[in-house]
Amino acid sequence: MMRQETMLIGGQWVSASDGGTLDSFDPFLQKVWATIPQATEDDVTSAIEASDAAFRGGWRQTPGRDRAVLLNRLADLMDQNADDLARIETTDNGKVIRETRAQVGFASRNYRYFAGLADKLQGETIPLDNGDLFDFTLVEPMGVAVLITAWNSPLTLLANKLAPALAAGNTVVIKPSEHASCSTLAFGRLVEQAGFPPGVVNIVTGDGRIGPALSTHPKIAKISFTGGIVTARKILTAAAERLVPVTTELGGKSPNIIFADADLKAAVIGAVAGIFGASGQTCIAGSRLLVERSVYDEVCAAVLEKVGTIRLGNPLDTATEMGPVANRAQFDRILGVIAAAKAEGAEVAIGGDAAMGEGLENGFFIQPTVIVNAGPDLSVLREEVFGPVLCILPFEDEAEAVRIANATDFGLAAGIWTNDIRRAHRMARAVESGVVWVNTYRASFVGAPFGGTKQSGVGRERAIQTLREYTKVKNVMIDLSEEERDPFAMKL
Ligand code: NAD
Repeated sequence: MMRQETMLIGGQWVSASDGGTLDSFDPFLQKVWATIPQATEDDVTSAIEASDAAFRGGWRQTPGRDRAVLLNRLADLMDQNADDLARIETTDNGKVIRETRAQVGFASRNYRYFAGLADKLQGETIPLDNGDLFDFTLVEPMGVAVLITAWNSPLTLLANKLAPALAAGNTVVIKPSEHASCSTLAFGRLVEQAGFPPGVVNIVTGDGRIGPALSTHPKIAKISFTGGIVTARKILTAAAERLVPVTTELGGKSPNIIFADADLKAAVIGAVAGIFGASGQTCIAGSRLLVERSVYDEVCAAVLEKVGTIRLGNPLDTATEMGPVANRAQFDRILGVIAAAKAEGAEVAIGGDAAMGEGLENGFFIQPTVIVNAGPDLSVLREEVFGPVLCILPFEDEAEAVRIANATDFGLAAGIWTNDIRRAHRMARAVESGVVWVNTYRASFVGAPFGGTKQSGVGRERAIQTLREYTKVKNVMIDLSEEERDPFAMKL
């Protein structure tokens, strides 16, 4: 049966006020499996107003302990409903169920982590030179936070934002991607079940047409965005009008660097999973594989052998390793990038086309594709593909590895494979990225800060420091002296 979704505004589940809807496609079957509301600007305004009313109406004064109870209850509900949430997400965006299922667990862990911090938002007392003055700080929530997410990992990306936002006492308006909104809406039911007061969490759906309303309303105090750089620029430009702070989690062109002294077997598995996991549709995809010249041929041969065994198929099947890409636009764009690379003379060693075969007939499947001896002039080496395309290139020494690794506008993640501990430290310092993995790739923990540098974004998510992005510090100075004062004398 086709799902007909509604949005959550001020504690009510509603359709778009003008009745507008969008189709949501199952990319494995290329079939509409749900309709979601296309919110109007008025709907967005209602959600922001409801969020603001809930903030002022009591949520901001809620004791941290009470927010923690609600966040833990939400995490429990996510765990109890994990199979359902994962199935919905996989059907909506095509990501394999073994990954969406793990990601639901990661998201619920995120709510528990920040539940533990909700009652620890403490200020400081500041020792001053002047003993008459007593100074302290208050750590306060910001107000209405707008949380905008991409389609590739809706619940995980949302948890990175929502957990700290709620823990710190903010209220929110969530806007999932129009390509995969259903898991976020199912999650909204759990928010309600957990007992959050109406208006604390609002969810509006629709495409970029509601973008301006989500970034210009005067009651917005904070925006956190995960998506592409073109959208990020629009949001930043709009937010600049009102000086609203924006966290941006954007794309990458991450290097995975294999040195000759590494455990090559582990490195090859890490390199293949680092790009072909989630069909390459992750911001941290290790899309550039840099290999030390002396082991280059050996590593290329091992990578190609491994890539040849990747199981494509129904993303709901736990044995499937690579599902379809998420939608028609992705499918056409990725095949376009591959075609352009071929036209530029790229040496495609495996893949390079749509994937055919039994069970793949209806889905947006693309063959895992490897380009070897990728020269610096190839545009595919500079652009984020956000699909199953790996470029492999050799390097001579550590200095050249660093130079190639950093020769990108992006700076999200990097992988380093070596058994030399000194080199691991040197490389970790030298690569320009927000995240560095040594002898692993795509490993995650909610307490470890995540985010990019350069064109990969500004701000961090997940770790304790994320609370700073959802709070403001107020300084309070009290004069305790009792003597008569000179009104023009400045106290220092
Ligand atoms: P996108 O920028 O097209 O869309 C992201 C979200 O922004 C969607 O919800 C979309 O509806 C909304 N949007 C569109 N126009 C808007 C506007 N004018 N104002 C406000 N919101 C607007 O990105 P996408 O295609 O959904 O996601 C792919 C990108 O996301 C890739 O570049 C990927 O690397 C990046 N990403 C980054 C991370 C990270 O944590 N760094 C994680 C996942 C994805």
